Amino acid sequence: MPDGQRSSTARVVAPASPRKLAKVPFVELADGRLQGVVSSGSDIARVYVSSVAAGTFAYTCSTNNNRPCGGAYGGFCNHIRALIGEAVLQYGAGRVARYMRVEPVEADSPAQSVIAPMAQTRPVPGDKSAAASVFSRFLRQLAYLEMAPTTAPLPEMQWFPPTRAVA
Ligand SMILES: [Zn+2]
Repeated sequence: MPDGQRSSTARVVAPASPRKLAKVPFVELADGRLQGVVSSGSDIARVYVSSVAAGTFAYTCSTNNNRPCGGAYGGFCNHIRALIGEAVLQYGAGRVARYMRVEPVEADSPAQSVIAPMAQTRPVPGDKSAAASVFSRFLRQLAYLEMAPTTAPLPEMQWFPPTRAVA
């Protein structure tokens, strides 16, 4: 067994399916929301911070510079749909549906099986203040990528392992 696995107490859980990190570098089920960061399709320097609240499906989407997303009027924009799709890859459709409190429907893809019933409720825009906290969680996660590789436990990582954020 490699040293990293033998000496670490943290269990590393592989995503349910491979994800496209370049498109959606960050996705999590946390703070009562499905939330994350989605790359802009056209501008490499721009990202969108998107979220959907569990239960109400109230959504937010804005750029990292706090500009509202032009596509997020009157429904889920493409960023939010991409984010939900990646969450389904990361966590599996069943777990995303349970966290969001939505009943999955028959659909062409696992992602659509949870996106469609949420979109059907005609959700409304939610509280924009979520974006700052989502983006800071993303930056904090990036900071860990820049740390020197080590096999020593990082105590603060125990606060937000992706597998325990979900009830
Ligand atoms: Zn958007």
